Amino acid sequence: MVRVGSGFDVHAFGPGDTIVLGGVRIAYSRGLIAHSDGDVLLHALVDALLGAAGLGDIGQHFPDTDPRWKGADSTRFLAATLEMLTRREQRVVNADLTLLAQAPKIAPWRDEIRRNLASRLSLPESRVSLKATTTEHLGFIGRNEGLAAMATVLIDGPDR
Ligand code: MG
Repeated sequence: MVRVGSGFDVHAFGPGDTIVLGGVRIAYSRGLIAHSDGDVLLHALVDALLGAAGLGDIGQHFPDTDPRWKGADSTRFLAATLEMLTRREQRVVNADLTLLAQAPKIAPWRDEIRRNLASRLSLPESRVSLKATTTEHLGFIGRNEGLAAMATVLIDGPDR
């Protein structure tokens, strides 16, 4: 049966000169404050996958109090989550992600991020969507204090 899942994540900007979005390092005038690399796209995607499978959330599986995940490359969270789904014979059908950010503009990196996500999900690019929006200068995102991401995924497999 098919099951849908949704995920949401936020990280604040802090000192630094690089941010990571969807596993792609992007030069920016700031960094992200996070226990891991603060990749909001991957964190929202992982939560959507866990949600679809009914397996809890990213904080339960990869707690930010665990030194193992300090500075962690969030692609590790995605790989571990996909492994859980594979063990349950569940496969990803498609993923639709939205980045909410006033800056940086994602357009120059959109194709690379989409390709990277598709490859990690073992899906054709046509089944991975990456959208972006500002919040019209409203709220913490609009003030450029941080950024957020939402993800929706569909998975298919035995009903567990
Ligand atoms: Mg996060």
